[in-house]
Amino acid sequence: KQVVLKKYVNVGLPKESDMEIRESSIQLKVPEGCKDSVLLKNLYLSCDPYMRSRMKKLETPSYVDSFQTGSPMNGYGVGKVVDSTHPDYKKGDLVWGFTGWEEYTITAPFLLFKIEHTDVPLTYYTGLLGMPGMTAYAGFFEVCKPKKGEYVYVSAASGAVGQLVGQFAKLLGCYVVGSAGSKEKVELLTNKLGFDAAFNYKEEQDLDAALKRYFPEGIDIYFENVGGKMLDAVLLNMRIHGRIAVCGMISQYNNERPDPVHNLMYIVGKRIRMEGFIVSDFYHLYPKFLELVIPSLKEGKITYVEDTAEGLESAPAALLGLFTGRNVGKQLVVISHD
Ligand code: NDP
Repeated sequence: KQVVLKKYVNVGLPKESDMEIRESSIQLKVPEGCKDSVLLKNLYLSCDPYMRSRMKKLETPSYVDSFQTGSPMNGYGVGKVVDSTHPDYKKGDLVWGFTGWEEYTITAPFLLFKIEHTDVPLTYYTGLLGMPGMTAYAGFFEVCKPKKGEYVYVSAASGAVGQLVGQFAKLLGCYVVGSAGSKEKVELLTNKLGFDAAFNYKEEQDLDAALKRYFPEGIDIYFENVGGKMLDAVLLNMRIHGRIAVCGMISQYNNERPDPVHNLMYIVGKRIRMEGFIVSDFYHLYPKFLELVIPSLKEGKITYVEDTAEGLESAPAALLGLFTGRNVGKQLVVISHD
């Protein structure tokens, strides 16, 4: 079974019917003569917001390509090698990285990481120990260059990336506030994930006033996940020499054109450093990242919230749910547990 994109959706929230589940038959073996390839049994798929851009017919060059309509979609996932002609991979190896949105994928290992630590939940390699975890680590430590005691604000804070940024900031001794789109998520942030405070941005008429309530002395670090009106309000509340790591702008992904941002001028007077980043530029830091995260996880200093959809058939709805806030924590899809 495979998830196939039927047609490009350039504007607006796609529908489940823009994707379909298709069956195809493959031999469960790397084809004869196919060198340096592996056949993966996909166990878990990761639903990620950037996949929305790939559902568009991209006209301008981007760091990702459009999906091919009529072909299986692809993205991050966790899989098990069932056949290999690659010297570095053998049957039974567990991997995370780039794979197809399908039950089995034959691939020349591209962006695949071997899973060495198997005494933690394997699903975590779609989130905490995979691409979103690395995103939080690179964005917070490498881009924001945080210092103990600084005031940190995270939007989309209960999601795959945001929940970890907040926990990293707490480990460092920062004051951390997160925003999210429901009462349940706000409670999760303060009760389970250790944020100092949290608010539901959907219930705030005036985002500037909300930020002033939580940051009367201003924000040192903003981890930007949503863009639009939130960014405008944050710019009014940054401190001098503040830093904004622009990780993503999910509020804009279904728009035809990005919403205007009015307060960019404040970057000058407040000497703000605002920097976009892409996680794949930081994968060389993956071993260093694991050295921090695996012990922190085992010692209970870090926790991780997942939202699990069962079966490949549930993948289209799970992916689209990211854009309505349906997911509570990291959204993944279980295809098989072994
Ligand atoms: P999440 O797990 O946070 O899921 C997305 C969440 O975004 C939703 O649950 C929803 O939460 C929130 N959201 C959706 N629409 C809106 C909106 N219009 N306004 C405000 N919030 C909205 O996703 P990730 O943690 O995986 O991704 C977070 C961000 O990080 C995204 O912008 C993504 O593109 C980016 N990213 C960037 C990477 C990079 O390399 N630069 C790598 C990975 C992710 P709520 O209920 O709180 O509204």
